[in-house]
Amino acid sequence: MNTPRGKGLSFARRIYAPRTLGVSMGFFTVAVSLYQVNAPLWLWPLVLFNAIAWPHLAYQLAKRSAYPYKAEWRNLLTDSLSGGFWVGAMGFSMLPSVTVLAMMAMHNIAAGGTRLMLQGFVAQAAGAAISILALSPVINLDNNAIQIYACLPVLVVYPIFIGWMSHQLALKLWEHRNILSELSRTDSLTGLINHGSWKDLLEAEFVKSQEQQHHCTIALIDIDHFKSINDTHGHIMGDTVLKNMSEALSENLRDTDLAGRYGGDEFCIILPNTSAGQASEILERLRLRVKENTDALLPDLNVSLSIGIAPYQPHITDSAMWLNEADKALYIAKTSGRNQVVSIEDHSPERLRLSVQN
Ligand code: GH3
Ligand code: MG
Repeated sequence: MNTPRGKGLSFARRIYAPRTLGVSMGFFTVAVSLYQVNAPLWLWPLVLFNAIAWPHLAYQLAKRSAYPYKAEWRNLLTDSLSGGFWVGAMGFSMLPSVTVLAMMAMHNIAAGGTRLMLQGFVAQAAGAAISILALSPVINLDNNAIQIYACLPVLVVYPIFIGWMSHQLALKLWEHRNILSELSRTDSLTGLINHGSWKDLLEAEFVKSQEQQHHCTIALIDIDHFKSINDTHGHIMGDTVLKNMSEALSENLRDTDLAGRYGGDEFCIILPNTSAGQASEILERLRLRVKENTDALLPDLNVSLSIGIAPYQPHITDSAMWLNEADKALYIAKTSGRNQVVSIEDHSPERLRLSVQN
């Protein structure tokens, strides 16, 4: 659908319904005036063809064309040309003529912007010129009651229909925008939020913690010796381990916890309203579950996790510093044996206390 042909076909499909409605309702507007000006008989098959067959023929022409977009653009200009012709054939009767020309301009600007509208005006003028040359109509700008009534259906229904279609299009665009924004925040492999989005959440959580001085703890998780899993079992198995890790996070964390993929084999979590002690228990449970599950499913892999925990503390001045605390805890977990949870509970050098669980 994203090829030029696909886009052209979708353009032609979008025009099909409003054209079918417009020409069939416009038929009454034009036919009443043609009857009143005693238009030549040979015009009647032409006006019927325009009202009944043209929308379907136009769609088929665009559909079968190698360049559907260009073909549909030509069809729209043909609409305008024939509209101008009917205006001339009606003797430029004021309300029916304005109705036909204005509805077409609305259709053109909705379909192809000001460029199509301006080209449409030129085509309408050309159509009117052809009918003057071919029919030498008696020009009569006045309207009678029947002509006014014959304009009403198209004047009422057609703008509502075009407005409804524009609204549907706006809704679809809004939906696509949401999907794109969701995709830009998501890590495609694991389905978790990505690094950038998680950092935005961390910033928000930092501000909240600073203002309200409530407990909140963050954690960084790194898979131990992940490189050797890739080297020994291949990258596809490595990817599976990362996906399983994302599932383990969803299953073992609470709905309020915010887990993301920090990058590579590293994951990041915000645990709102959670003290360092509670976070240690939650993450220790996660560490054990992941180990037990992978030992049961993939015994050769030997997947273990190192986890660094940092609670919010009043001396932390920004979210980067908070993250740095978690990074320090993770570093200690890595350098003091891996496969463990380390929590930095107090930052000050004299009172640096590390609680190590394994
Ligand atoms: P350590 O215990 O010190 O963490 O050792 P490690 O081998 O896990 O080292 P490190 O964390 O530096 O290795 C991360 C590896 O993850 C390196 C990279 O090739 C691999 N990696 C990063 N992204 C992906 C991915 O999307 N899929 C796979 N399969 N591997 C990835
Ligand atoms: Mg690692």
